[in-house]
Amino acid sequence: MTFWPNVVVATPAHSGVGASLSYRSELPLAPGTLVRVPLGRREVLGVVWACATEPPEGLTEAQTKAVASVLDGLPPLNPRWRQLVKFAAQYYQRSLGEVAMAALPPQLRELSNEQLARRLKRRAKASRPAASEASASVTPEDAAPASSATHGHDLSDEQREALTALHSAQAPVLLYGATGSGKTEVYLRATRQVLDIATPEGDCPTQVLVMVPEINLTPQLEARFRERFEPLYGTDAVVCLHSGMTPPQRMSSWLAAHTGTARIVLGTRMAVFASLPGLRLIVVDEEHDPSYKSQEGARYSARDLAVYRAKVETEALASHAVPLQTGPHPRPLPEGEGVKPTDAPTPPRCQVVLGSATPSLESWHAADQGRYVRLSMPGRIGGGALPRLRLVDMNHQPKGAVLAPPLVTAMAGRIARGEQCMVLLNRRGYAPVLACHDCGWKSACAHCSAYRVFHKLDRTLRCHHCGFTERVPRACPDCGNLDIAPVGRGTEQIEEQLSALLADVQRPDGGPARVARMDADSTRLKGSLEVQLATMHSGEVDVLVGTQMIAKGHDFRRITLVASVNADSALFASDYRAPERLFALLMQAAGRAGRDAAQSEASEMWVQTWYPQHPLFATLKQHDYPAFAAEQLIERQQAGMPPYGFQALLRADARTQAAAQAFLNGAAQHSLGLPHRDEITLYPAVPLTIQRVANVERAQLLVEAASRGALQRFLSAWQPVLLDCRSLPEARGLIRFAVDVDPLAI
Ligand code: ADP
Ligand code: ZN
Ligand code: ZN
Repeated sequence: MTFWPNVVVATPAHSGVGASLSYRSELPLAPGTLVRVPLGRREVLGVVWACATEPPEGLTEAQTKAVASVLDGLPPLNPRWRQLVKFAAQYYQRSLGEVAMAALPPQLRELSNEQLARRLKRRAKASRPAASEASASVTPEDAAPASSATHGHDLSDEQREALTALHSAQAPVLLYGATGSGKTEVYLRATRQVLDIATPEGDCPTQVLVMVPEINLTPQLEARFRERFEPLYGTDAVVCLHSGMTPPQRMSSWLAAHTGTARIVLGTRMAVFASLPGLRLIVVDEEHDPSYKSQEGARYSARDLAVYRAKVETEALASHAVPLQTGPHPRPLPEGEGVKPTDAPTPPRCQVVLGSATPSLESWHAADQGRYVRLSMPGRIGGGALPRLRLVDMNHQPKGAVLAPPLVTAMAGRIARGEQCMVLLNRRGYAPVLACHDCGWKSACAHCSAYRVFHKLDRTLRCHHCGFTERVPRACPDCGNLDIAPVGRGTEQIEEQLSALLADVQRPDGGPARVARMDADSTRLKGSLEVQLATMHSGEVDVLVGTQMIAKGHDFRRITLVASVNADSALFASDYRAPERLFALLMQAAGRAGRDAAQSEASEMWVQTWYPQHPLFATLKQHDYPAFAAEQLIERQQAGMPPYGFQALLRADARTQAAAQAFLNGAAQHSLGLPHRDEITLYPAVPLTIQRVANVERAQLLVEAASRGALQRFLSAWQPVLLDCRSLPEARGLIRFAVDVDPLAI
């Protein structure tokens, strides 16, 4: 008998959602099966989406090609995974094939069946101990020595209450916990509860997905999860998935997750697409972080997809009506172990926990509306206070001072007492511009509408947008003046100045103060990030200077002073999300100070500003996120901005700005008469703030709607129009276009 599977393969971005190709097969192929199929003259990886017993209309057997091979060592991708991928493709206006293939490890495309079989065999061997443990039905508790390492801390009352509530919550959970309130411990306990759930023989064991916004936060989290769970579930139980891994590493993690050997996947936004057949808990740490939104390809929000994914998994669990089992032998939990499962069985769920000290206004609003369950942990572990905010009015500082003298004095005092400081500046390099004061020459990039940044350490001018790099000229290229000077400041300069200003300060052990810098430049080499974090943790550094990379999530114990030296530009940025972002950044940064309760009373957050009266600082002073959020939400509501309105951007790249804008405006003109068009506002095309990057001109057009549904249906209907508009004569020179749904920056 012959079967006609529909196979999804990598397709160009705009070939339309739902595009799958028909093939022929002698065997029925289950949906989700991975196959190799001929496409043109190549053979490509594909996912079977459906399998028909009738040939597709209008095609004869001779006209269809046969499936070349089946990756039969691998279980099929399950229906929930396929639903996630399909939803993401539709919602973010990309092709199914593009999203599906991007969700799979790149190496899967290259490995032969034999190579794949060898890897699976190696995996199975490596994970045997864990498997035999399970089959002997020994609970992990019995198998592992009871050590404090595997049990963690005694929970605080707030943590215990949050866990109890989390256990019975019937909606996504927003864990609103102050910095240092012990959110990670809550994630660890919630993970433990889920991993203890027994699954029927032959089913995938339960699994947990934990996401962090940035790669540099994975080492710390990985260490904590490994320490806690490897003794219980084996060395294969925890795997990572992020873009800093090599293709073989990613392949290995993916296989472990797909086959159920891995119980916990830790990763960045891409991990939201990992195949996790036993998924029962998703944690999105620092859920407010913009890094969860992809800025290329399908511009998805991993946080929003996590919420969707949990819903799909929960619906599937409910429809199978699997009774909730709390373990092979329900046992009394030792003191401090956390939450006792309630007597009344709650329906099985895949829970999603969004954690943050400064939640996104979207999530905050969802909790206000009751769509999410808000759990608050306002106190810090150990009862310590949040750092005191000290605003430095730069209008009253010596002219030209980069660092206010009182701040430097305060830092010196801390160092002399053996405490650490952190200085934040969101600009790497030495100075953002190099300029000639005689003729006005500036270090503009030849390929972008931006300046090249002066990097003093290697004496280069580097464009942070296109990478164009040259040695610093000896003299002004235009007039020959030898006196060309840096304008503005970056992290390299702050590091240099602090080293000079603190040169005479002695640490308690008599040694000189040590200043270090951490940013994308200092952590470029593999392994350097870990080394730098380690020197900070071990106290070999007294002052850490860095970009926002150092502000997030790190649990440095000895920092008592954090300073933000130049954040003013965000106060007046045109992007309506700028205040939200600044508030979150400063709260996060402040959260790095005084994490040791013994020192928290004296801990401080210094902010240098020319606008100390700005209302944002008043709420920041109180650490009052709810008040800040309430104010912002009122403003958003009045302006019809998200989360009260819905937006998308149509973006275009072209050889000329005129072509980019002509394409966008043409697309707007040709949208008349489309479904829901009368509910949509289309704004005129505008150039991007940085209009030209790598000789490509960029423009965008804002799309607004009062309802998500209307926006979605309009965008789908608009797709074919967009394809047609590529050939408008005035759009000649168009390179590409993209739709960004729920954009983060406008
Ligand atoms: P958050 O993620 O909320 O900022 P963390 O989870 O990093 O906070 O916790 C802050 C610190 O408190 C960590 O060093 C952690 O080990 C410690 N900690 C967490 N929970 C407890 C507890 N119940 N008892 C003692 N220490 C705890
Ligand atoms: Zn000059
Ligand atoms: Zn450039």
